[in-house]
Amino acid sequence: MNKNKLVFANWKMNLNSNKVRLLVEGILSKLKPQDSVDVVLAPPLPYLGNVNAMILGSGIELSSQNVFWENDGPYTGEVSVKMLLDMGCSWAMIGHSERRQYLLETNEMINKKVLSSIKKGLKVILCVGESFEQRRRKKTFESIADQLYRGLRGVSEDLIPQIVIGYEPIWVIGSGEAASVNDISSVHNFISDELKSMFPSAKLLPRIVYGGSVNTDNISQISKLHNVDGVLVGNASMDCDKFCDIVMKVVK
Ligand code: PEP
Repeated sequence: MNKNKLVFANWKMNLNSNKVRLLVEGILSKLKPQDSVDVVLAPPLPYLGNVNAMILGSGIELSSQNVFWENDGPYTGEVSVKMLLDMGCSWAMIGHSERRQYLLETNEMINKKVLSSIKKGLKVILCVGESFEQRRRKKTFESIADQLYRGLRGVSEDLIPQIVIGYEPIWVIGSGEAASVNDISSVHNFISDELKSMFPSAKLLPRIVYGGSVNTDNISQISKLHNVDGVLVGNASMDCDKFCDIVMKVVK
């Protein structure tokens, strides 16, 4: 059962094949395999195969940034769990706020993606987070609870360890400034309590990682918080030195 800390790199729709190669080479030369930290890279879809070939045997894992719930068929532009497993992925990121916002992903679609992924053997990082407006109206907990209940509907307790919850307050993503440690702490405690009540007999509950402008300055403070099981890193994960520094500070 895995209670390692997790550092998850989301490269979003950035880089190109050459930059991906240089970044992965850099990460491989700087990072030694760590027993206590899981490192996962989520490159853009076209580079999954290249990254997979480079990280084989390194202990670093591969994730997609999205997945579709059907196995195959007339779903133009979509990619199935089966295909991602075939490409070497062991993870899928599901429900990122940018997909909810720009691709109009609903909690119902997200739930189908989660169920399909965990049943077929992919680990899932399920992203949840409140908008600035929800925070201003003091609806943070309500919004997070809704995303958790609807996103995790029908998940059986035996498959729950395959899931990680990524708490990403939408208003801090890409802003350069993370949420305060008090805010992170209180939302992580809330998520942890919700998960306990949703899955009362689960032997191991999902890890909960924080994402949103994590950088080399704030990582030490964030990663030592109780109930923070790691971090989801966007911008800083595309800079080899910064990303490796973040991983090393999580190890400490
Ligand atoms: C993200 O989009 O998942 C993210 C964490 O981005 P950033 O670190 O750039 O805020």
